[in-house]
This record gives sequence, structure tokens and C-alpha cells, in this order.
Amino acid sequence: MNREVYGKLIFELSRPGRRGTRPVDNSTDAFPRAELASELTRTSATELPEVDEPTVVRHYTRMSTNNFGVDSGFYPLGSCTMKYNPKVNDALSAIPGMARLHPFQPDATVQGALRAYWTLQRSLSEIGGMAEFTVNPYAGAHGELTGLMIIRAYHDERGDKKRTKVIVPNSAHGTNPASAAVCGLEVVEVASLPDGTVDVEALRPLLDDTVAAMMMTNPNTLGIFESSIPEIAAMVHEAGALMYYDGANLNPLLGVARPGDMGFDVMHINLHKTFSTPHGGGGPGSGPVGVRAGLEHLLPNPRVIRDEATDTFSVVREDSNSCGSVTPTVGNFAVELRALAYILTMGRDGLGMAGPMATLNANYIKEALRDVYKLPVDRVCKHEFVFDGLADKSTGVTTLDVAKRLLDYGYHAPTIYFPLLFHESLMIEPTETESRETLDEFIDVMRRIAAEAISEPDTLKAAPVNTPVGRPDDTTAALEPIVTYKQLRDK
Ligand SMILES: *Cc1c(COP(=O)(O)O)cnc(C)c1O
Repeated sequence: MNREVYGKLIFELSRPGRRGTRPVDNSTDAFPRAELASELTRTSATELPEVDEPTVVRHYTRMSTNNFGVDSGFYPLGSCTMKYNPKVNDALSAIPGMARLHPFQPDATVQGALRAYWTLQRSLSEIGGMAEFTVNPYAGAHGELTGLMIIRAYHDERGDKKRTKVIVPNSAHGTNPASAAVCGLEVVEVASLPDGTVDVEALRPLLDDTVAAMMMTNPNTLGIFESSIPEIAAMVHEAGALMYYDGANLNPLLGVARPGDMGFDVMHINLHKTFSTPHGGGGPGSGPVGVRAGLEHLLPNPRVIRDEATDTFSVVREDSNSCGSVTPTVGNFAVELRALAYILTMGRDGLGMAGPMATLNANYIKEALRDVYKLPVDRVCKHEFVFDGLADKSTGVTTLDVAKRLLDYGYHAPTIYFPLLFHESLMIEPTETESRETLDEFIDVMRRIAAEAISEPDTLKAAPVNTPVGRPDDTTAALEPIVTYKQLRDK
């Protein structure tokens, strides 16, 4: 790796007078050269980089390989399922008849697209055990907000105005309390037991007639199945509140268990996690929201409905008694088509295998590394699990060092220092699509790093050494990133 070349900006490769191909002037009397009006032309040259064509091509090709993706390597991230996205999904969503539609085309001209939306709404309802789904929201967090708006509308409709609190476990993803706050609700935290599951006895005194909802993630962030859910749901419903399911961790439950059957009233699904749609770069994502029977009318519009008699589809746009609107169109169509393609190509049996395989892969890695990494919760996990750093604490090597060293070996780093329940959290989620060989290679590298922590801790402290950028100061990189050439030049 030549950091000198990798780190260069296109402006730094510039040489005065260098240029790419310049077409010769072939104008003739029959084909005269067209002149631009003088008010459209520049009076002085812009500051553009001056580079020859091979340099430009190599620069951008090199940059395109700097990013790590699931198509280039194993991605053991925990918390956000980063599963492989089958290429057939992309191919199907790129069919011109789908890709070139306009979101406000008359319903009669887009019956195929509306059928696709409707089929997805029905499929997600079946998978989640819910009565109906909206595919409006653009992300998981957006789905959480939509779900809480539905819950607020439910209480408002009943004239129950004093329910302003949302109970959130202290192990929850940060978007849960954030969504509740954005929805104008007050967040009340409930403690976890040492194994990371919700402390039912701590929950009991928090439940009264001011509570609107309880938000839960199952399996929770530690990858542990929340086995007290039936009891919690009964308590929450007894208090007149609703149960919200954060479906970001739905992957291990696919085809095995359904949130609707566990007593959840409202849920969201992250299509960019469980349903293999692309993930990253800030979007586009999709966070459909489902509700149990009796809450369907509160779902936001626009929504696709089917006329059974004629087997035709239409978009309901007016917002009479729904929770309000969260998007101008039915949804992120290109993303939703990919999710539908995934569901239909996997089929009931394929989807039913995804959860158990994700669970098996996570437990396989956990058991293979537990002698060299500290396992704070020693239970069978679902799709992910958390180590609390290295088992040998005498080396001074931290979870951060392990994560940085993984980059040198060509792996994406896992989620670190989350959840906050442990000091050295290192969260691993292999997903269902990885082969035994891929898992074994990763285990081998993790063991090698644990050995290096003892034999050469300074190497780990200096890692990564093989990447285009070394180890930046995390705080400065986050708070004062240099994102413009000018700033860099002025430094
Ligand atoms: C990813 C995630 C979210 C938020 O989803 P986004 O699509 O990133 O907004 C919420 N909860 C959990 C548990 C998650 O893992």
C-alpha cells in the first residue's frame, strides 16, 4: 500500500498544461463551428485540476476500491445486519418498466408497480404477524417515529390525553429514545438484568396511566431472546399502553417467530437489514411499519389498496383519520422492489432458513473465540453476540485496537463500545450467507490478533498500518473533519 498515492487529491495530481484528449477542429463551411454567446463564456479560467486521462482514470478507480463493502469482504458488524444483497434484486429493480415510473402517475398506468407494493405490504404483514403494513418510512428511525405517531393517535382517538411517556430499555438502540423525543413523548428508561434482558421487576412500578408505549428490541442488542415478552406484554396492556417492536433485529426470527404473536401492537422492519436491500451511504433505506388488527385506519397514507372484485390496485392519498403523513409518496420504490424480489426468490422455506442459519453462524464464532475473548453473557445467542474485549486484560490492548487491527487483515471492523452495558463491547454478527470457510478464516484472524496482543501489543496500538489512512484522532475526526481541499491547503 502506497499511502503517498492513495492519500492524494485530484488537485494534487494536477500539472500546469496537462490535459486529456482535445478534439481537433473539423469545422467546414458546410458544418461551421458553433460559437457560444459571449455572455455565456468565462473571462478567466476556473481552478480545475489539469491531469492526463490515465491519471484521472486511475485516480477514480483507486478511490472506488478504497471503500469497504460486503461485495469485497466479510462484514462482521453487529447491531446493523449487513447481509449480502443478491444481485437478482438489483436486476429486477432496474427493469425499465419499474425504474422509469413517476410516483404520481395515474393508478391505471402503474398497476404492476402497485401490485408489487401491495404484495410487499401483504408479505410483511404475514412475516410480522400483523394485520397491515405501510411501506412509507425511509429508515428504521423514521419507522419508529411513524409507529409512535400511530400510538399517539390511538390514545388521542380514545380521548386518553395524559399518556406522554415511552418506556425504553437501557440497552436500546439510540434511535428509540430519539424517536420518542421527536414525537414529543417523554423517555423513561428501564433497567436490564446482567444478561441484558429487561428487568421485569424494575418495569412494574413504571407502568401507569401516563405511559403510551413500551419499545422493545427482540432479540435485544446482546443477541439474547427476551423470553419475558408474554409477561411484559400482559403488564403493558393491563396498564393501557401499547407494545412497540423495534424490528431491526428481526433477522434471526424470520420464519421462526412473529412479533404479532408475541403481543406487539406496532412494529417496524428495516428492509436494508433483514430484507437484503443496500445499506449505507446514508440511504436510501426503508422502514415499513405494521400494526395489529384494529389499528389499520391509523396507518399513514399514501397506501396501496386492492379491490378484490376486480383485482385492481389504487393509492389512497387522503388523510382522513390516519396518524398524519410521513412521506409524499408510497415509499422508496427501488428499495422496496429489491425487498420483494428477496422475499419471492427466497420463498417461505428460504426465509425460514435465514434466521436459524444466522443464529448458527453467530454461535459458531462465539464458541470458537470464547477462550481468548471475554464473553460477559454466556448464553446461546441469536444472530449476534457481544464480547467484552480480550480475555487477557493484562496486555493493555483494547477493543479499539482489535477493531483497528482487523482492518489490516482485510475485515470491516465490528460495532465497538456499544452496547454500553460493558466497557469493552465488541459486537459480532456474521449473518446467514457466510460460508463455513469464511467464518473459519475470520476466527483464525481474531485468534491471531489475540496472540499478537500478548506477543506484540505495540503493533496493535499502531494499527491499522495497511490502510490508505492510519489511525486518526477519533475526536478530531468526528468533530472537526477536513472535508474540503481549501481547508487542507490552508492548514
Ligand atoms: C439500525 C437500528 C435502528 C435504526 O434503523 P435505521 O434504519 O438505521 O434508522 C433501530 N434499532 C436498532 C436495534 C437498530 O439496529
